[in-house]
Amino acid sequence: MSGSHCLFCRAEKREPLTFLSLLSPDTSTGFCLSCQEQLERIDPLYSCRLCGRDLHSLEPAFVHDQICHDCIRWKQSGRNGLYGRNYAIYSYNGFIKEVMTMFKFRGDAILADGFEKELKKAYSRIIDHRLRFRFLNLRSGGEYEAIVPIPLSRERLVERGFNQAELLARKLGQPIVDALIREKNEQKQSKKNRRERLLMRETPFHLKNDQVRIVTGKKILLVDDLYTTGATMRLAATAITAAHPKQIDSLTLIHG
Ligand SMILES: [Zn+2]
Ligand SMILES: [Zn+2]
Repeated sequence: MSGSHCLFCRAEKREPLTFLSLLSPDTSTGFCLSCQEQLERIDPLYSCRLCGRDLHSLEPAFVHDQICHDCIRWKQSGRNGLYGRNYAIYSYNGFIKEVMTMFKFRGDAILADGFEKELKKAYSRIIDHRLRFRFLNLRSGGEYEAIVPIPLSRERLVERGFNQAELLARKLGQPIVDALIREKNEQKQSKKNRRERLLMRETPFHLKNDQVRIVTGKKILLVDDLYTTGATMRLAATAITAAHPKQIDSLTLIHG
């Protein structure tokens, strides 16, 4: 497919005519400017330090020390364990919902290509951030040693044909470790209310036996398309914790 058409709306990607764009036209796959403008990018400088949500839209009463009220509740619940924090790129809105529907349910796996640049950028920023923290001796820094996509159950994978989390994770350009299995008998999350989701204790995730050695002592980055309540990430982290990793964080395309 030609790179000159928007991956989402198929419109021709017209770039502003500049000397540079004439010399080297952008033929990369991606979204047109008008689609890009509808994506709500999260301000990394004013996002929750634990879940990555954009704090501009939250009442100040729900934010403490750049941490949102949901994350404060998670801390109080004592269920974070080795799970550190999430990073997110976009806020959830009607537009990205449509993009994700096209991506996941209509099988347009190529849409992941449109997020490649932003995912790579986010990853470098995370690494950079962590290096700075290491300098301050706040937390061990450096690259993640294992990128672990949140899996779908086998049934769901067959139905969909691909795991969107894995496609996104591959865009980071780092080696992927397919360490987790997801059980099928998980009640659909949407059928539970928010409180039930937050309280859910039993993990549908299991660490593959032959992957234990690979995650032990390592810094793990879980990757998924969406962070909502944070329950999925903590349940996945719980499954990995059995192998004693060094630390577990996560990156999602969307927070919302
Ligand atoms: Zn477009
Ligand atoms: Zn938060």
